[in-house]
Amino acid sequence: MPEFTTGELLDLDRAHVWHPYGPMPGRTEPLLVESASGVRLRLAREVHGRRELIDGMSSWWSAVHGYNHPVLNEAATDQLGRMSHVMFGGLTHEPAVRLAARLVEVTPEPLRHVFLCDSGSVSVEVAAKMCLQYWRSLGRPAKQRLLTWRGGYHGDTWQPMSVCDPEGGMHELWQGVLPRQVFAGPPPAEYDETYAEELRALIAAHAHETAAVVVEPVVQGAGGMRFHSPAYLAVLREACDEHEVLLVFDEIATGFGRTGELFAADHAGVSPDVMCLGKALTGGYLTMAATLCTTRVAEGISRGEVPVLAHGPTFMGNPLAAAVAGASLDLLLGQDWRAEVKRLEAGLRTGLAEAAALPRVREVRVLGGIGVVQLDHEADIAAATAAAVREGVWLRPFRDLVYVMPPYVTGDEDLAQVCRAVCAAAAAG
Ligand code: PMP
Repeated sequence: MPEFTTGELLDLDRAHVWHPYGPMPGRTEPLLVESASGVRLRLAREVHGRRELIDGMSSWWSAVHGYNHPVLNEAATDQLGRMSHVMFGGLTHEPAVRLAARLVEVTPEPLRHVFLCDSGSVSVEVAAKMCLQYWRSLGRPAKQRLLTWRGGYHGDTWQPMSVCDPEGGMHELWQGVLPRQVFAGPPPAEYDETYAEELRALIAAHAHETAAVVVEPVVQGAGGMRFHSPAYLAVLREACDEHEVLLVFDEIATGFGRTGELFAADHAGVSPDVMCLGKALTGGYLTMAATLCTTRVAEGISRGEVPVLAHGPTFMGNPLAAAVAGASLDLLLGQDWRAEVKRLEAGLRTGLAEAAALPRVREVRVLGGIGVVQLDHEADIAAATAAAVREGVWLRPFRDLVYVMPPYVTGDEDLAQVCRAVCAAAAAG
Protein backbone atom coordinates (compact mmCIF):
# COMPACT_ATOMS: atom_id res chain seq x y z
CA MET A 1 0.00 0.00 0.00
CA PRO A 2 1.34 3.46 -0.81
CA GLU A 3 1.85 6.00 1.98
CA PHE A 4 -0.91 8.57 2.03
CA THR A 5 -0.79 12.13 3.26
CA THR A 6 -3.51 13.27 5.65
CA GLY A 7 -5.08 15.28 2.83
CA GLU A 8 -5.13 12.26 0.52
CA LEU A 9 -6.68 10.05 3.19
CA LEU A 10 -9.42 12.57 3.85
CA ASP A 11 -10.04 12.91 0.09
CA LEU A 12 -10.36 9.12 -0.20
CA ASP A 13 -12.68 9.11 2.83
CA ARG A 14 -14.88 11.72 1.14
CA ALA A 15 -14.87 9.70 -2.07
CA HIS A 16 -15.68 6.28 -0.70
CA VAL A 17 -16.41 5.88 3.00
CA TRP A 18 -19.92 5.83 4.36
CA HIS A 19 -19.94 6.78 8.05
CA PRO A 20 -22.52 5.75 10.70
CA TYR A 21 -25.69 7.83 10.53
CA GLY A 22 -24.09 9.77 7.71
CA PRO A 23 -25.25 11.04 4.38
CA MET A 24 -23.54 9.67 1.29
CA PRO A 25 -19.74 9.83 1.30
CA GLY A 26 -18.37 13.30 0.79
CA ARG A 27 -21.06 15.08 2.75
CA THR A 28 -19.44 14.83 6.19
CA GLU A 29 -16.10 16.05 7.51
CA PRO A 30 -14.80 13.44 9.97
CA LEU A 31 -11.62 14.09 11.91
CA LEU A 32 -8.75 11.75 11.07
CA VAL A 33 -7.53 9.90 14.18
CA GLU A 34 -3.95 8.70 14.03
CA SER A 35 -3.74 6.84 17.33
CA ALA A 36 -5.23 6.79 20.80
CA SER A 37 -3.77 6.28 24.24
CA GLY A 38 -5.25 6.55 27.72
CA VAL A 39 -8.20 8.91 27.36
CA ARG A 40 -6.73 10.82 24.43
CA LEU A 41 -7.30 10.60 20.69
CA ARG A 42 -4.41 11.91 18.59
CA LEU A 43 -5.49 13.61 15.38
CA ALA A 44 -3.51 13.46 12.15
CA ARG A 45 -3.75 17.23 11.82
CA GLU A 46 -4.61 20.13 14.05
CA VAL A 47 -8.29 21.03 14.26
CA HIS A 48 -9.40 24.23 16.03
CA GLY A 49 -5.93 24.49 17.53
CA ARG A 50 -5.96 20.91 18.90
CA ARG A 51 -3.98 17.83 17.92
CA GLU A 52 -5.18 15.82 20.90
CA LEU A 53 -8.71 15.36 22.19
CA ILE A 54 -9.90 13.77 25.41
CA ASP A 55 -12.57 11.26 24.44
CA GLY A 56 -15.71 12.22 26.36
CA MET A 57 -17.68 9.45 24.65
CA SER A 58 -15.58 6.34 25.45
CA SER A 59 -16.13 5.57 21.76
CA TRP A 60 -19.88 5.25 22.32
CA TRP A 61 -19.79 3.78 25.88
CA SER A 62 -17.21 1.13 25.08
CA ALA A 63 -13.62 2.21 25.92
CA VAL A 64 -14.09 2.19 29.69
CA HIS A 65 -10.41 1.48 30.41
CA GLY A 66 -9.16 4.01 27.85
CA TYR A 67 -7.12 3.26 24.74
CA ASN A 68 -3.96 1.26 24.22
CA HIS A 69 -4.21 -0.33 27.65
CA PRO A 70 -1.23 -2.59 28.35
CA VAL A 71 -3.34 -5.38 29.89
CA LEU A 72 -5.80 -5.48 27.00
CA ASN A 73 -2.99 -5.15 24.46
CA GLU A 74 -1.28 -8.13 26.03
CA ALA A 75 -4.46 -10.21 26.03
CA ALA A 76 -4.99 -9.41 22.33
CA THR A 77 -1.38 -10.07 21.33
CA ASP A 78 -1.25 -13.28 23.30
CA GLN A 79 -4.45 -14.58 21.71
CA LEU A 80 -3.33 -13.40 18.26
CA GLY A 81 -0.34 -15.73 18.56
CA ARG A 82 -2.69 -18.68 19.23
CA MET A 83 -5.56 -18.01 16.83
CA SER A 84 -7.42 -14.87 15.92
CA HIS A 85 -10.49 -16.68 14.67
CA VAL A 86 -11.93 -20.11 14.29
CA MET A 87 -15.48 -21.10 13.39
CA PHE A 88 -17.66 -21.65 16.44
CA GLY A 89 -19.99 -24.24 14.94
CA GLY A 90 -18.91 -27.62 16.28
CA LEU A 91 -15.74 -26.15 17.80
CA THR A 92 -15.09 -24.32 21.02
CA HIS A 93 -12.12 -22.60 22.66
CA GLU A 94 -10.83 -21.41 26.00
CA PRO A 95 -11.41 -17.64 25.61
CA ALA A 96 -15.13 -18.16 24.86
CA VAL A 97 -15.62 -20.76 27.59
CA ARG A 98 -13.89 -18.67 30.21
CA LEU A 99 -15.76 -15.53 29.20
CA ALA A 100 -19.15 -17.25 29.26
CA ALA A 101 -18.51 -18.74 32.70
CA ARG A 102 -17.34 -15.36 34.02
CA LEU A 103 -20.35 -13.53 32.60
CA VAL A 104 -22.70 -16.01 34.26
CA GLU A 105 -20.86 -15.44 37.54
CA VAL A 106 -21.23 -11.65 37.49
CA THR A 107 -24.70 -11.18 35.97
CA PRO A 108 -27.91 -11.60 38.00
CA GLU A 109 -29.11 -15.11 38.85
CA PRO A 110 -30.56 -17.18 37.17
CA LEU A 111 -28.96 -16.18 33.84
CA ARG A 112 -26.94 -19.22 32.90
CA HIS A 113 -26.42 -19.61 29.16
CA VAL A 114 -24.45 -17.28 26.92
CA PHE A 115 -24.69 -16.69 23.19
CA LEU A 116 -21.64 -14.76 21.99
CA CYS A 117 -22.25 -12.61 18.95
CA ASP A 118 -20.62 -9.71 17.20
CA SER A 119 -22.59 -6.52 17.88
CA GLY A 120 -25.15 -5.10 20.26
CA SER A 121 -27.83 -4.99 17.59
CA VAL A 122 -27.31 -8.67 16.84
CA SER A 123 -27.47 -9.52 20.54
CA VAL A 124 -30.92 -7.89 20.65
CA GLU A 125 -31.93 -9.79 17.48
CA VAL A 126 -30.85 -12.98 19.22
CA ALA A 127 -32.78 -12.03 22.37
CA ALA A 128 -35.91 -11.43 20.31
CA LYS A 129 -35.44 -14.71 18.46
CA MET A 130 -34.97 -16.57 21.73
CA CYS A 131 -38.18 -15.16 23.17
CA LEU A 132 -40.32 -15.67 20.06
CA GLN A 133 -38.98 -19.17 19.61
CA TYR A 134 -39.55 -20.02 23.26
CA TRP A 135 -43.29 -19.45 22.95
CA ARG A 136 -43.51 -21.23 19.59
CA SER A 137 -41.74 -24.19 21.12
CA LEU A 138 -44.24 -24.20 23.95
CA GLY A 139 -47.10 -24.35 21.47
CA ARG A 140 -48.15 -20.72 21.88
CA PRO A 141 -47.28 -19.21 18.50
CA ALA A 142 -49.61 -16.24 19.00
CA LYS A 143 -47.08 -14.76 21.43
CA GLN A 144 -44.83 -13.15 18.82
CA ARG A 145 -44.88 -9.43 19.59
CA LEU A 146 -42.55 -7.40 21.77
CA LEU A 147 -43.67 -4.80 24.28
CA THR A 148 -41.54 -1.86 25.29
CA TRP A 149 -41.75 1.72 26.46
CA ARG A 150 -41.30 4.79 24.30
CA GLY A 151 -37.97 6.61 24.20
CA GLY A 152 -35.89 3.46 23.82
CA TYR A 153 -33.06 2.52 21.52
CA HIS A 154 -31.95 -1.06 20.86
CA GLY A 155 -29.93 -1.06 17.67
CA ASP A 156 -30.09 -0.74 13.93
CA THR A 157 -31.14 -4.16 12.64
CA TRP A 158 -34.75 -5.16 12.09
CA GLN A 159 -36.14 -6.44 15.42
CA PRO A 160 -34.12 -3.92 17.47
CA MET A 161 -35.36 -1.07 15.25
CA SER A 162 -38.93 -2.19 15.87
CA VAL A 163 -38.56 -1.53 19.61
CA CYS A 164 -36.80 1.82 19.23
CA ASP A 165 -38.88 4.93 19.82
CA PRO A 166 -41.32 4.94 16.90
CA GLU A 167 -41.65 8.72 16.67
CA GLY A 168 -38.96 11.31 16.10
CA GLY A 169 -36.35 8.63 16.66
CA MET A 170 -33.72 7.39 14.29
CA HIS A 171 -35.91 4.77 12.72
CA GLU A 172 -39.10 6.72 12.10
CA LEU A 173 -38.55 6.19 8.36
CA TRP A 174 -39.30 2.49 8.73
CA GLN A 175 -42.57 2.69 10.60
CA GLY A 176 -45.14 0.61 8.77
CA VAL A 177 -42.49 -1.80 7.49
CA LEU A 178 -41.04 -2.91 10.81
CA PRO A 179 -42.79 -5.56 12.92
CA ARG A 180 -45.63 -3.83 14.80
CA GLN A 181 -44.80 -3.83 18.50
CA VAL A 182 -46.65 -2.67 21.61
CA PHE A 183 -45.56 0.61 23.23
CA ALA A 184 -46.14 2.08 26.68
CA GLY A 185 -45.43 5.74 27.32
CA PRO A 186 -41.87 6.69 28.26
CA PRO A 187 -41.01 5.88 31.89
CA PRO A 188 -41.08 8.99 34.12
CA ALA A 189 -37.88 9.87 35.97
CA GLU A 190 -39.48 9.43 39.40
CA TYR A 191 -41.63 6.49 40.40
CA ASP A 192 -45.23 7.19 39.49
CA GLU A 193 -47.85 4.65 40.55
CA THR A 194 -50.25 5.75 37.80
CA TYR A 195 -47.63 5.00 35.16
CA ALA A 196 -46.83 1.68 36.85
CA GLU A 197 -50.55 0.80 36.68
CA GLU A 198 -50.58 1.67 32.96
CA LEU A 199 -47.61 -0.64 32.42
CA ARG A 200 -49.28 -3.49 34.29
CA ALA A 201 -52.52 -2.98 32.37
CA LEU A 202 -50.76 -2.89 28.98
CA ILE A 203 -48.85 -6.08 29.73
CA ALA A 204 -52.07 -7.77 30.90
CA ALA A 205 -53.99 -6.64 27.81
CA HIS A 206 -51.35 -7.81 25.33
CA ALA A 207 -50.00 -10.87 27.14
CA HIS A 208 -51.81 -13.25 24.74
CA GLU A 209 -49.77 -11.89 21.79
CA THR A 210 -46.58 -10.76 23.56
CA ALA A 211 -43.44 -12.85 23.74
CA ALA A 212 -41.38 -10.45 25.80
CA VAL A 213 -41.02 -7.03 27.32
CA VAL A 214 -37.76 -5.51 26.08
CA VAL A 215 -36.36 -2.44 27.86
CA GLU A 216 -33.19 -0.57 28.67
CA PRO A 217 -33.11 -0.61 32.48
CA VAL A 218 -32.65 2.72 34.32
CA VAL A 219 -31.06 4.62 31.41
CA GLN A 220 -32.56 5.07 27.97
CA GLY A 221 -29.50 5.90 25.88
CA ALA A 222 -29.56 6.88 22.23
CA GLY A 223 -33.35 7.35 22.39
CA GLY A 224 -32.95 10.47 24.54
CA MET A 225 -30.47 9.93 27.41
CA ARG A 226 -33.23 9.78 30.03
CA PHE A 227 -33.01 8.13 33.45
CA HIS A 228 -35.91 6.48 35.26
CA SER A 229 -36.65 4.96 38.63
CA PRO A 230 -35.32 1.39 39.03
CA ALA A 231 -38.62 0.61 40.79
CA TYR A 232 -40.22 0.16 37.35
CA LEU A 233 -38.02 -2.88 36.79
CA ALA A 234 -39.70 -4.65 39.70
CA VAL A 235 -43.10 -3.67 38.29
CA LEU A 236 -42.13 -5.22 34.94
CA ARG A 237 -40.80 -8.39 36.58
CA GLU A 238 -43.98 -8.89 38.57
CA ALA A 239 -46.31 -8.20 35.65
CA CYS A 240 -44.29 -10.41 33.30
CA ASP A 241 -44.41 -13.29 35.79
CA GLU A 242 -48.11 -12.83 36.41
CA HIS A 243 -49.01 -12.74 32.71
CA GLU A 244 -46.48 -15.21 31.31
CA VAL A 245 -44.33 -12.80 29.34
CA LEU A 246 -40.53 -12.96 29.20
CA LEU A 247 -38.45 -9.99 30.35
CA VAL A 248 -35.40 -8.81 28.39
CA PHE A 249 -32.97 -6.21 29.72
CA ASP A 250 -30.84 -4.49 27.12
CA GLU A 251 -27.74 -3.61 29.16
CA ILE A 252 -25.57 -2.94 26.13
CA ALA A 253 -24.97 0.65 27.21
CA THR A 254 -25.56 0.35 30.96
CA GLY A 255 -23.56 -2.83 31.62
CA PHE A 256 -20.15 -3.05 33.31
CA GLY A 257 -20.55 -0.31 35.87
CA ARG A 258 -21.58 2.73 33.85
CA THR A 259 -24.61 3.57 36.03
CA GLY A 260 -22.82 2.98 39.35
CA GLU A 261 -23.90 -0.66 39.71
CA LEU A 262 -22.25 -3.45 37.73
CA PHE A 263 -25.51 -3.83 35.81
CA ALA A 264 -28.45 -1.43 35.85
CA ALA A 265 -30.67 -4.36 36.90
CA ASP A 266 -28.70 -4.40 40.17
CA HIS A 267 -30.21 -1.02 41.15
CA ALA A 268 -33.49 -2.89 41.63
CA GLY A 269 -32.22 -6.40 42.38
CA VAL A 270 -34.34 -7.63 39.48
CA SER A 271 -33.31 -10.48 37.16
CA PRO A 272 -34.45 -10.62 33.56
CA ASP A 273 -35.00 -13.83 31.60
CA VAL A 274 -32.70 -12.58 28.87
CA MET A 275 -29.95 -9.96 29.05
CA CYS A 276 -28.02 -8.25 26.24
CA LEU A 277 -24.45 -7.04 26.75
CA GLY A 278 -22.04 -5.33 24.39
CA LYS A 279 -20.07 -2.10 24.04
CA ALA A 280 -17.82 -2.16 27.18
CA LEU A 281 -17.72 -5.98 27.07
CA THR A 282 -14.32 -5.89 25.32
CA GLY A 283 -13.32 -2.54 26.81
CA GLY A 284 -14.07 -1.14 23.37
CA TYR A 285 -11.28 -3.12 21.73
CA LEU A 286 -13.16 -5.49 19.47
CA THR A 287 -16.63 -6.12 18.27
CA MET A 288 -18.36 -8.59 20.54
CA ALA A 289 -21.70 -8.76 22.33
CA ALA A 290 -23.53 -11.40 24.32
CA THR A 291 -27.07 -12.57 24.92
CA LEU A 292 -27.58 -14.40 28.20
CA CYS A 293 -30.66 -16.43 29.07
CA THR A 294 -32.01 -18.63 31.82
CA THR A 295 -32.25 -22.41 31.74
CA ARG A 296 -36.04 -22.03 31.53
CA VAL A 297 -35.70 -20.15 28.22
CA ALA A 298 -33.04 -22.51 26.85
CA GLU A 299 -34.99 -25.64 27.78
CA GLY A 300 -38.19 -24.15 26.38
CA ILE A 301 -36.51 -23.60 23.03
CA SER A 302 -35.09 -27.11 23.03
CA ARG A 303 -38.57 -28.61 23.49
CA GLY A 304 -39.73 -27.19 20.14
CA GLU A 305 -40.24 -28.77 16.75
CA VAL A 306 -37.02 -26.98 15.75
CA PRO A 307 -35.00 -27.47 18.93
CA VAL A 308 -32.05 -25.28 17.97
CA LEU A 309 -31.49 -21.53 18.08
CA ALA A 310 -31.03 -20.93 14.37
CA HIS A 311 -28.50 -18.17 14.59
CA GLY A 312 -24.80 -18.47 13.77
CA PRO A 313 -23.14 -15.85 11.59
CA THR A 314 -19.48 -16.38 10.76
CA PHE A 315 -17.80 -14.43 13.53
CA MET A 316 -19.83 -15.62 16.53
CA GLY A 317 -17.64 -16.31 19.56
CA ASN A 318 -14.53 -14.76 18.01
CA PRO A 319 -11.55 -15.89 20.18
CA LEU A 320 -9.62 -12.63 19.91
CA ALA A 321 -12.61 -10.60 21.08
CA ALA A 322 -13.45 -13.18 23.77
CA ALA A 323 -9.88 -13.11 25.13
CA VAL A 324 -9.89 -9.33 25.35
CA ALA A 325 -13.38 -9.32 26.87
CA GLY A 326 -12.22 -11.72 29.56
CA ALA A 327 -9.20 -9.54 30.28
CA SER A 328 -11.35 -6.40 30.32
CA LEU A 329 -13.77 -7.92 32.81
CA ASP A 330 -10.91 -9.08 35.06
CA LEU A 331 -9.35 -5.63 34.82
CA LEU A 332 -12.61 -3.97 35.80
CA LEU A 333 -13.42 -6.30 38.68
CA GLY A 334 -9.83 -6.37 39.91
CA GLN A 335 -10.03 -2.70 40.85
CA ASP A 336 -12.41 -0.56 42.87
CA TRP A 337 -14.45 0.33 39.77
CA ARG A 338 -17.34 1.46 41.94
CA ALA A 339 -15.18 4.14 43.54
CA GLU A 340 -13.97 5.26 40.10
CA VAL A 341 -17.51 5.61 38.76
CA LYS A 342 -18.55 7.44 41.96
CA ARG A 343 -15.61 9.79 41.43
CA LEU A 344 -16.76 10.44 37.85
CA GLU A 345 -20.30 11.02 39.09
CA ALA A 346 -19.13 13.59 41.65
CA GLY A 347 -16.90 15.32 39.08
CA LEU A 348 -19.70 15.46 36.51
CA ARG A 349 -22.14 16.87 39.08
CA THR A 350 -19.73 19.63 40.03
CA GLY A 351 -18.46 20.32 36.54
CA LEU A 352 -21.82 20.38 34.80
CA ALA A 353 -23.61 22.42 37.48
CA GLU A 354 -22.79 25.65 35.67
CA ALA A 355 -24.46 24.35 32.49
CA ALA A 356 -27.78 24.42 34.36
CA ALA A 357 -27.53 28.21 34.52
CA LEU A 358 -27.04 28.63 30.76
CA PRO A 359 -29.94 30.45 29.08
CA ARG A 360 -31.16 27.71 26.71
CA VAL A 361 -30.58 24.65 28.87
CA ARG A 362 -33.63 22.64 29.94
CA GLU A 363 -32.02 20.18 32.32
CA VAL A 364 -28.72 18.72 33.52
CA ARG A 365 -28.73 15.04 34.51
CA VAL A 366 -25.96 12.92 36.00
CA LEU A 367 -25.98 9.24 36.90
CA GLY A 368 -22.82 7.21 37.52
CA GLY A 369 -20.41 7.96 34.71
CA ILE A 370 -23.04 9.62 32.50
CA GLY A 371 -23.56 13.38 32.21
CA VAL A 372 -26.31 14.91 30.08
CA VAL A 373 -27.14 18.51 29.25
CA GLN A 374 -30.51 18.76 27.56
CA LEU A 375 -31.11 21.97 25.61
CA ASP A 376 -34.51 23.54 24.99
CA HIS A 377 -33.89 23.31 21.23
CA GLU A 378 -32.27 21.08 18.61
CA ALA A 379 -28.52 21.61 18.95
CA ASP A 380 -26.46 23.12 16.16
CA ILE A 381 -24.34 19.96 16.03
CA ALA A 382 -21.47 21.46 14.06
CA ALA A 383 -21.19 24.50 16.36
CA ALA A 384 -21.46 22.37 19.52
CA THR A 385 -18.87 19.86 18.33
CA ALA A 386 -16.47 22.63 17.27
CA ALA A 387 -16.83 24.33 20.67
CA ALA A 388 -15.91 21.08 22.42
CA VAL A 389 -12.94 20.48 20.12
CA ARG A 390 -11.67 23.99 20.88
CA GLU A 391 -11.73 22.92 24.54
CA GLY A 392 -9.74 19.81 23.59
CA VAL A 393 -12.56 17.28 23.99
CA TRP A 394 -14.35 14.93 21.62
CA LEU A 395 -18.14 14.97 22.01
CA ARG A 396 -20.93 13.81 19.73
CA PRO A 397 -24.08 15.84 20.51
CA PHE A 398 -27.37 14.75 18.97
CA ARG A 399 -30.84 16.27 18.78
CA ASP A 400 -31.19 18.48 21.88
CA LEU A 401 -28.50 16.64 23.84
CA VAL A 402 -24.89 17.32 24.74
CA TYR A 403 -23.72 14.35 26.78
CA VAL A 404 -20.68 12.47 27.98
CA MET A 405 -19.73 9.07 29.30
CA PRO A 406 -15.96 9.35 29.80
CA PRO A 407 -13.62 6.37 30.27
CA TYR A 408 -13.45 5.31 33.94
CA VAL A 409 -9.72 6.13 33.90
CA THR A 410 -10.35 9.83 33.19
CA GLY A 411 -8.37 11.74 35.83
CA ASP A 412 -9.88 14.65 37.77
CA GLU A 413 -8.20 17.37 35.72
CA ASP A 414 -9.19 15.77 32.45
CA LEU A 415 -12.72 15.32 33.76
CA ALA A 416 -12.89 19.02 34.62
CA GLN A 417 -11.78 19.76 31.05
CA VAL A 418 -14.49 17.43 29.71
CA CYS A 419 -17.09 19.31 31.78
CA ARG A 420 -15.85 22.69 30.53
CA ALA A 421 -16.19 21.38 26.99
CA VAL A 422 -19.74 20.17 27.62
CA CYS A 423 -20.68 23.61 28.96
CA ALA A 424 -19.01 25.30 25.97
CA ALA A 425 -20.79 22.95 23.55
CA ALA A 426 -24.13 23.51 25.27
CA ALA A 427 -23.62 27.28 25.06
CA ALA A 428 -22.58 27.16 21.40
CA GLY A 429 -25.18 24.63 20.27
N1 PMP B 1 -28.88 -1.31 22.68
C1 PMP B 1 -28.48 -0.19 23.29
C2 PMP B 1 -29.09 0.19 24.61
C3 PMP B 1 -27.48 0.60 22.70
O1 PMP B 1 -27.09 1.73 23.32
C4 PMP B 1 -26.91 0.19 21.47
C5 PMP B 1 -25.82 0.99 20.80
N2 PMP B 1 -25.98 2.36 20.80
C6 PMP B 1 -27.37 -0.99 20.88
C7 PMP B 1 -28.35 -1.71 21.52
C8 PMP B 1 -26.80 -1.49 19.59
O2 PMP B 1 -25.50 -1.91 19.74
P1 PMP B 1 -24.50 -1.90 18.51
O3 PMP B 1 -24.31 -0.47 18.13
O4 PMP B 1 -23.25 -2.54 19.03
O5 PMP B 1 -25.13 -2.71 17.43
